[in-house]
Amino acid sequence: MKIDSETRLFALLGNPVSNSHSPMIHNTTFEDLGINARYMAFEIEKDDIENAVISMRTLDAKGFNVTIPFKETVIGHLDGLDKSAMEMKAVNTVSNENGRLIGYNTDGRGLLTALKENGVCVEGAKILIIGAGGAARGIGFAIANENIESIDIMNRSQGRAVKLVEDLVKIHPNKDFSYVGSEPAAPEKYDIVINATSIGMQPNVSGSPVDPSVFGKDCAFCDIVYKPHMTKLLSDASSIGRKVVFGIDMLIYQALLSEEIWNGVDIEKKVIAEKIKSQLGLG
Ligand code: NAP
Repeated sequence: MKIDSETRLFALLGNPVSNSHSPMIHNTTFEDLGINARYMAFEIEKDDIENAVISMRTLDAKGFNVTIPFKETVIGHLDGLDKSAMEMKAVNTVSNENGRLIGYNTDGRGLLTALKENGVCVEGAKILIIGAGGAARGIGFAIANENIESIDIMNRSQGRAVKLVEDLVKIHPNKDFSYVGSEPAAPEKYDIVINATSIGMQPNVSGSPVDPSVFGKDCAFCDIVYKPHMTKLLSDASSIGRKVVFGIDMLIYQALLSEEIWNGVDIEKKVIAEKIKSQLGLG
């Protein structure tokens, strides 16, 4: 697709961004949808997020993503937040809506879409989320909006996990949320286990947060770590016949949900996701 005077700018602001898949995912999507736009990744110094947002306004970028370490700090430089970003107090997607920069968060819905597109049903499910950092919060808030049976949070340290449970209870006082400590006390009860920690991420690829064999035989395992693609957790789960959902799916679906916000269109997400995975050599 050619670049001309009508080509619109989209961007990623983060640090580091050098190995990001986002430019490939978004430029492939623009190409597929026939949208005259380009997506660029910009590495922003820690103290420069305000200037970077001013630059996005000045260049009239139609939208941008925000990643580590700016997901919380960007909020003070925006004009408004949607419900998801307000609940999570973190933004990964900014949309330029007639000159107003509005923050959204598609991380959790990206995970939820990845589960659904892989045939994992959250309806009535007992879910174990491992981790209580930024990603676990996004996932917790998104899944809590669904008709789930319960969400347990397992985490190495207590503070952030208890805070996450308290924040979930505030929004959904009638639903069942618990902190279960740093080990799964009753593993056989879960339908879905989600690793939302960095355990197993390169270069420490031999790490895994739990042993899938102690969970029930119908339990599905999702790892949001996507480097490596096949983490030890998913390899262990897959080797005993458990259903697995890969972290790359969450990454792709959160990006496609950003595209829907920016362009006001419904996308055939699964079709584009398969195309992107095949371009990454994962199809
Ligand atoms: P974060 O805010 O720094 O949280 C890290 C979490 O991992 C915390 O719960 C932390 O526990 C736990 N943890 C880290 N090292 C551990 C260890 N050695 N043993 C036990 N627990 C450990 O990070 P984040 O932003 O939530 O990201 C977490 C992971 O998700 C990263 O690998 C990131 O690449 C991945 N991610 C993937 C996607 C996707 O689209 N697939 C999106 C976002 C993030 P404590 O609270 O005890 O420190």
